[in-house]
Amino acid sequence: MSPPSHLVVIGGGVQGSSVAYFASQMAPSHRPGKITLIEANSHLAPHASGKGGGFMARSWGDGTSTEQLHHYAFDKHAELAAEWGLKTYRKLPVLSVAGEGKKGFGSMRGTPNWLDGKGAGVRSMGDGSDTAQVTPGEYVEAASSRSGATVLLNTRVVGVELSELPDGEQAVAGVEIVTADGSRSVLEADAVCLSTGPWGCMAEDWFPTISSPMEGIKSTSVTFPARETANDAVALFCNEDSRFNTHLEVYPRPDGTVYCCGVGGSDYIPAAELRQGAFLSGCDPKEARVEAATATLHAMSDAYKGIAPKSSQACMRPCAPDALPIMGPVPGVAGAFLNYAHNCWGIAWAPATGTAMAELICLGETTFDLSAFNVERFGAPAKRGGRGRKKKGEAVGEQW
Ligand SMILES: Cc1cc2nc3c(=O)[nH]c(=O)nc-3n(C[C@H](O)[C@H](O)[C@H](O)COP(=O)(O)OP(=O)(O)OC[C@H]3O[C@@H](n4cnc5c(N)ncnc54)[C@H](O)[C@@H]3O)c2cc1C
Repeated sequence: MSPPSHLVVIGGGVQGSSVAYFASQMAPSHRPGKITLIEANSHLAPHASGKGGGFMARSWGDGTSTEQLHHYAFDKHAELAAEWGLKTYRKLPVLSVAGEGKKGFGSMRGTPNWLDGKGAGVRSMGDGSDTAQVTPGEYVEAASSRSGATVLLNTRVVGVELSELPDGEQAVAGVEIVTADGSRSVLEADAVCLSTGPWGCMAEDWFPTISSPMEGIKSTSVTFPARETANDAVALFCNEDSRFNTHLEVYPRPDGTVYCCGVGGSDYIPAAELRQGAFLSGCDPKEARVEAATATLHAMSDAYKGIAPKSSQACMRPCAPDALPIMGPVPGVAGAFLNYAHNCWGIAWAPATGTAMAELICLGETTFDLSAFNVERFGAPAKRGGRGRKKKGEAVGEQW
């Protein structure tokens, strides 16, 4: 199979930049002639790929259909971080923290010394050999700049142009774009990959043969300035704290900040709204959840008492109904590929999903088992029609 002459990747997040990068790394005979990465916003990683935690765990998918993604990507992240000189990648141990209690957290080896408030104890979830972190924005910048792709910012894809093939199938001919000044045009392309996160449900409008049910889970996250301590490079998974309705995940970062998500109060944004472009240009954090995160941290840590948040933000986790990714070709449309719904592991899996998609697009096959992620598991879209007037069970008149 010959590679595409022009591959358009839609979505400048961790997934889109990974597809562009790994496509650019194919052997010259299988490399796309040109790669264009299109992002609706004014910079790359404006959503979850710039605002997510960046935690990764090699063995946490063992025994499931995502095991291969976890394993391959964990090892590849380490390799890429060294090759690209990423400053924010590091391995780090993980603790489970029971926050509601009076006695404190004890002195188990590896407990960060800022965990000095009231609590019910800690338990090890990993010694740091198979858990790590990267600040996702740094990965995205490195992957996209090394891909050599033409990056179009402030550009929204609003449709995919299809041509008819002699055998009755269809093929990608281009993408319809709208730029910031409102002008509309068609960019010719023979392959397109949707790495559009929660907005992957738009695929249903562009490829009428598929059903692409998606939901965006919109959550607030908060960063704090880190307290100076010697052993703070430990990720914390806190139990549900019923006082504040939080379930904190705490990731101290090498840049001197502490990132907290799991602050509760998430909103579930349905596909009907996402298909209209809801939150595509951004979403605001909820102040009440910032306060809840702050109160939880203060209860766990005397060292953090009085320390106010440094920043807060909100973004969406892209979820299919079965919580698995949607990855693979669009049936019946040559050159069309889907790559979204990576839920809470989109950053961790990016080197694996990017490689798998690049292989599919450029070689026509991949060494990854993507069978559980095929969009066809959701069937064809519910047929329009059938909702009109009936006479003794027989449809009469317009059925839309
Ligand atoms: C609070 C929170 C914490 C998380 N923590 C972690 C973590 O610790 N580890 C981990 O692995 N994962 C984590 N995740 C999940 C991870 O962030 C996501 O799975 C991942 O970022 C998804 O990447 P993406 O590129 O598919 O989507 P996105 O980052 O949403 O990128 C999609 C991009 O497509 C663009 N786009 C969409 N439609 C169009 C269009 N029509 N035209 C042009 N551009 C378009 C959007 O603007 C967007 O930039 C977290 C998520 C959340 C919400």
